[in-house]
Amino acid sequence: MLLSDEFDEQGSKLPFDRTLIFPYAFRHAYAQRHADAGVPVDVLKELMDHRSIVTTMSYYQVPLKRQREAITTIRKHTTDRSGRPAPFTSTTGYEAQSVAVPFGNCREPSNVKACAIRFQCAGCGFYHPDPSYLPAIEEHVNDLRADRETAKAMDADDFVVRNLADQITAFTNVADTMRDRLGNLPQDEREEIEEASAVPRKVRATRDHKLLPLTVIRKETLDAC
Ligand code: SF4
Repeated sequence: MLLSDEFDEQGSKLPFDRTLIFPYAFRHAYAQRHADAGVPVDVLKELMDHRSIVTTMSYYQVPLKRQREAITTIRKHTTDRSGRPAPFTSTTGYEAQSVAVPFGNCREPSNVKACAIRFQCAGCGFYHPDPSYLPAIEEHVNDLRADRETAKAMDADDFVVRNLADQITAFTNVADTMRDRLGNLPQDEREEIEEASAVPRKVRATRDHKLLPLTVIRKETLDAC
């Protein structure tokens, strides 16, 4: 039997009201789950086959108050480039001193549009990620691994492969250290951080597709060379 989240007087779950189930609810839930997971808005637009991105954007709206509450939680778990704690002392400080780059916050806003070291953030003193970036860091590590294999297949010089390997090590170290620290927290605190992290991820998903140039080399690009 399909059960709801409501309870009867004996403390047993009540049956789910089946009149609330209709085809559009599945479509809506599908879109909302993807938006909450931080799927980029242009990707979700394609998945939903929306004619206008404005329709898709409605799934990403997060009230400002909710955004600030989330930042109040995650700012305390910001780290430096090695994964060592480097918390912001206030929510306003986090908002004012950090600019979102693909895998974390950059504390040097003037560098973000034309980063002198080409977004190799894990080797940069301005890099300050927080737990909301963990999936993006892990995805980036996977991209870098793929790039390293492509570079080897291209017979690229050792310094190219070494650079990619060093970035993989550095980003992996940040993610592992952050995960270990989160893993040592009480479960309720971990859940609070995970819930809060979903908020900025969702907000970023509406703009990451036009955020910054990345240095990832795609196989299709190489094939076309
Ligand atoms: S490498 Fe990343 S953190 Fe450092 S200046 Fe560039 S964008 Fe900012």
